[in-house]
Amino acid sequence: MAEIPPTDLNLCASCSACALAETRNQVVVSRGSASAALMLIGEAPGAREDATGQPFVGRSGQALDRLLVEVGFDLERDVYICNAVKCRPPGNRRPKRLELAACRPWLDLQLQQVNPAAVVLAGATAVEAILGIKGGMTQLRGRWQRWQDRSVMPIFHPSYLLRNPSPEDGAPIDLTRRDLAAVRQHLCER
Ligand code: URA
Repeated sequence: MAEIPPTDLNLCASCSACALAETRNQVVVSRGSASAALMLIGEAPGAREDATGQPFVGRSGQALDRLLVEVGFDLERDVYICNAVKCRPPGNRRPKRLELAACRPWLDLQLQQVNPAAVVLAGATAVEAILGIKGGMTQLRGRWQRWQDRSVMPIFHPSYLLRNPSPEDGAPIDLTRRDLAAVRQHLCER
């Protein structure tokens, strides 16, 4: 029999739908505004997120926040940040297909409740989880996709930006800044 989809996001904190429940410290649901026009979806929490219960608060999150602010987003008001998987995979490995599937009802509930006008997918795992596209982020980033009647923009994962810190025009940081500026422009034009 099919599982009944969850309707209360508060219950996510006690989820035990996959084995990550045994190793996590905290379920990491979201930060930002639940009435934001933009939802940003990453891969899964890391060590700092697992310790604090907040997504993207480590070094890659700080890099992401800097770019969002640079292009004009107010982090408290304009953006809802979450992950495809809500519990930290041990050793920060990529989430497994089963873990992504087990967590999907929570992500679907977040999409339903926040109902964002645009979605940013940070990195290949989020792109594959949402759009079902497996491909190089160099080709996918910066190109709008349409998914479930929403505008979706893939960007490089912020941890990739930390590994490629060049500030030059055309380098990953600059391209991501441009992608996020395009998202902001899109939302301003609605
Ligand atoms: N990487 C992610 O994809 N999400 C986080 O919350 C932190 C790091």
